[in-house]
Amino acid sequence: MKKIFQWINDLVSIFYPRLCIGCGEALQRNESHLCLRCILHLPETNYHLSKENPLEKIFWGRAKVENVFSFLYFRKGNTVQSILHQLKYKGNKEIGAFMGEMYGKKLADAGCLADVDVIVPIPLHPKKMRIRGYNQSEWIAMGLSKGLNVPYSNDFLVRATFTETQTKKARFSRWENVKDVFQASRTDELAGKHVLVCDDVLTTGATTEAAIQKLLEVPGVRVSVVTIATAK
Ligand SMILES: [Zn+2]
Repeated sequence: MKKIFQWINDLVSIFYPRLCIGCGEALQRNESHLCLRCILHLPETNYHLSKENPLEKIFWGRAKVENVFSFLYFRKGNTVQSILHQLKYKGNKEIGAFMGEMYGKKLADAGCLADVDVIVPIPLHPKKMRIRGYNQSEWIAMGLSKGLNVPYSNDFLVRATFTETQTKKARFSRWENVKDVFQASRTDELAGKHVLVCDDVLTTGATTEAAIQKLLEVPGVRVSVVTIATAK
């Protein structure tokens, strides 16, 4: 029976080949999302292996973080841009889990983030959630969870709900806009934990900082950050 399915799969792929997100070539049976060649050529930051990590500087003087790691360099037109485009605008949520697991394994192999207790994705804005139908960060969290062998949870960080006046008041600056967007939840359970916040891409860090600050208000909580991509 299994053989018949495989045969049908192969036949289908002759007419509708699954294509590599990076180079557009047909994928082999044992490949998914990216061909082996593109995986080997991914622009890895390897920040988790070096002492000097420019990402940590993003949060200097803003929020105390234990570690900040990003898997890949985001550049205009590179494979990473295609990956993020698939993840955010093409409904390919599985690529989030795929990349998350790949990076999680690398971090685990290097002995990084060994004392993390829980992985927490950045919650998506409800409007975007309605359009996209899923939170891409949650799919990354699922993959990281598998790769790092650490549970993930959506319960500890939630979007704050605003009254209308609060929403109007918060339109002063970029930071004013984001600083109270999140709130920590189930704080009794969260207390004392090392939390790994994850997201798709790290840019100015404003959204991430808003999330971190709310988590750090919980007694004994330490925070690290992992993203799939960075422009730094
Ligand atoms: Zn490829």
